[in-house]
Amino acid sequence: MLFSHDTEVALQAAAALVNTADGPTERLPDVAALDEFVRIWGWTGRRRRTAAELQAVRDLRRWLRRLWVADRDQAVDMVNQVLREANAVPQLVRHDGWDYHMHATSPDAPLATRMAVEAAMAFTDVIRADELGRLRTCDYPGCGNVVVDLSKNRSKRYCDQVCGNRAAVAAYRARKLEAAGGQQAKAPGKTGRPRLPGTRAS
Ligand SMILES: [Zn+2]
Ligand SMILES: [Zn+2]
Repeated sequence: MLFSHDTEVALQAAAALVNTADGPTERLPDVAALDEFVRIWGWTGRRRRTAAELQAVRDLRRWLRRLWVADRDQAVDMVNQVLREANAVPQLVRHDGWDYHMHATSPDAPLATRMAVEAAMAFTDVIRADELGRLRTCDYPGCGNVVVDLSKNRSKRYCDQVCGNRAAVAAYRARKLEAAGGQQAKAPGKTGRPRLPGTRAS
């Protein structure tokens, strides 16, 4: 394991949240969609279930995306600021079948604050290990989703299997074209990520 389990889950949850802002597609269109996201990623603590709570979580995605592409010093500034503003106090807790892990906010804090602090805490691990290079964006042209690469050999290039399969198909077609003596094979178009219905839960 590269990082502690809670850090790895927090990074993946943060990436999943960023990726709910999917180009023109809003994957958190309403409170019910947020409920589902919270359920999938095992968020506990108090919920408001209001439009304001939903909007705060949506707004957090922009900050997380900036954090994803920040250099080390910028990331440190962003993380420190969030931890300071949220008055984060790291505490070891154990609940709901999860072994000891860190909470740095009270369960009563607003959901978006808890999400921001959890991501910031995870980043404190990544930054100290000097592993920010594992947080990238998907290699599939036009996708733009963020990726957490926890693989041993740093080989994860695509946000999910949809992009991975598309890239494999494109590479296969390119090879066939070349083998057929055609002109230079074309890279996949920049028209955005094609969607297959029902391939993603969130
Ligand atoms: Zn917890
Ligand atoms: Zn992708």
